[in-house]
Amino acid sequence: MTQSIQLPIKQPIKQHWHLRFLELAAHIAQWSRDPEKKVGAVIVRPDKTIASVGFNGFPRGVSDDDARYQDKELKRELMTHAEVNAILHAREPLSGYTLYVWPLAPCVRCAATIIQSGITQVVTIPLKPDSNWVKTLELAENMFAEAGITVTIISGEIRLPELFIG
Ligand SMILES: [Zn+2]
Repeated sequence: MTQSIQLPIKQPIKQHWHLRFLELAAHIAQWSRDPEKKVGAVIVRPDKTIASVGFNGFPRGVSDDDARYQDKELKRELMTHAEVNAILHAREPLSGYTLYVWPLAPCVRCAATIIQSGITQVVTIPLKPDSNWVKTLELAENMFAEAGITVTIISGEIRLPELFIG
């Protein structure tokens, strides 16, 4: 199921947990060495403490020199997505946990891993109109719906620091 949240205007952004964790995901995204697409994910426990974080990159120990990032096909093959890295870095069962991802919703492959991990909620931001990920994101959304995962799109105004935009 998909739901949109309109944030209360008077509520300070910093007090809103969804925004806090999306901001953190945006920060983590900047750790990615991919010059084109930097994605960050944060997994949060029901008590709002952080269980794990991840960003997109090549597997540990695999050379991630710039030339490999220039070869788009090779990059796609070698890349582990932020959501999967966050799940793999976690040291505990994730049943009932929430995954925050910025700036893209999970692809269909990540969606499968998210479902299998026991995570029950995904929070992200609206898709950019020019995104070429529409097809895989639609498939992922359908899978989430079938599996009973709540997808929360934060459509309120998110003021991320200038550094994180683009
Ligand atoms: Zn993915």
